[in-house]
Amino acid sequence: MRPRNIRVIHLDQLRRNMELIRSSVPEGTRVMAVVKADGYGHGAAETARAALAGGADMLAVAAVKEGTQLRKAGISAPILVLGAVTAADVSEGADFGLIQTVCSPEMVFLCEQAAKVTGKQAEVHLKVDTGMGRIGVRSEEERDRVLKALSECPHVRLAGAFTHFSDADGDEDGMAYTQAQYDAFIRLTDGLPEGVIRHCANSAAIHRRKDFALDMVRAGISLYGYPPVECELPLRPCMRWTAKVSYVKEIDAGDYVSYGRTFRAGEKRTVATVTCGYADGYHRCASGKAQVLIHGKRVPVIGRICMDQMMADVTGLENVQPEDEVVLMGRSGSERITAEDLARWSGTISYEILLSVGSRVDRVFSDMKGTDSDADEVEAERE
Ligand SMILES: *Cc1c(COP(=O)(O)O)cnc(C)c1O
Repeated sequence: MRPRNIRVIHLDQLRRNMELIRSSVPEGTRVMAVVKADGYGHGAAETARAALAGGADMLAVAAVKEGTQLRKAGISAPILVLGAVTAADVSEGADFGLIQTVCSPEMVFLCEQAAKVTGKQAEVHLKVDTGMGRIGVRSEEERDRVLKALSECPHVRLAGAFTHFSDADGDEDGMAYTQAQYDAFIRLTDGLPEGVIRHCANSAAIHRRKDFALDMVRAGISLYGYPPVECELPLRPCMRWTAKVSYVKEIDAGDYVSYGRTFRAGEKRTVATVTCGYADGYHRCASGKAQVLIHGKRVPVIGRICMDQMMADVTGLENVQPEDEVVLMGRSGSERITAEDLARWSGTISYEILLSVGSRVDRVFSDMKGTDSDADEVEAERE
């Protein structure tokens, strides 16, 4: 029997999303699959394999540890660590053949020392800060100091340069800012040696500005089916999150439900208790707003969300019983709850929803090779 709380990851849909993104970028542009943060909660190694099968040329992670986990899982594709090199893990990065990110001479020297020990040349990408205000060289002088350090380090090879947009999903003003970031990036990288690949586009920019594709684009959230801006591609969510009904009861007018007595029944109600709470990553701040799907119907979550359980008002639904499936995110019948819905109820963004699903929620991987239908629909029909 399946565990009570699961997230089904549709790898076929993930692969399909990558194929769609790949087909939408200009000929000759490489595609990097961003699989940091455990593949945005979808499972890093499985996501990486599906993305590579869908045509990704390269992978990106946030930190060295995430990269070494992919290597230990047998993945040999090029992996870029997006975060700046640190003294603590530069050697591990070099040992596992990860491409590291530099933005100061000191970082270049750290890479040189680490690479020298391995006896091999290490590749690095130069990070340019064009307005994100996070990491990166911000001027020609800073860039030139890094380039000078590189020229003194025979074991380090500059293979790429990149910048990150802060407002590519923004309004008109945000897009003007993005254009200025792009222009600054071109200005700061135009003189780099032949063969240094340049990349700047995140998901939002991939869909909005094909002319920003340069040598490579970096697809994150869109790969998981949640394009942050309007886009023509039929990208679809790959994660379905479910729990179960554990108990059903009738309550009378005036009865309270859950902590703090925020819900009081105005009349007789039927209440189902659900095997999921904020310890599973279901945000407590969604109390009073959240909905779930039971028997293909949308029903409200009532009262405060508890640590391990929550209650749904199933009045009017026929024969709800323990073990019945509760869809927290995904499709059931003709209804669908998306990470964006959950984000709205919790006051956050789809990104945070996808990766806040708790570690005690088992992951189940589904791969229906060759099917081109809505994976979530297939999954819902199977039940
Ligand atoms: C996370 C990240 C991305 C991916 O962004 P999405 O909006 O998810 O596409 C790309 N580049 C960098 C540097 C990142 O940190």
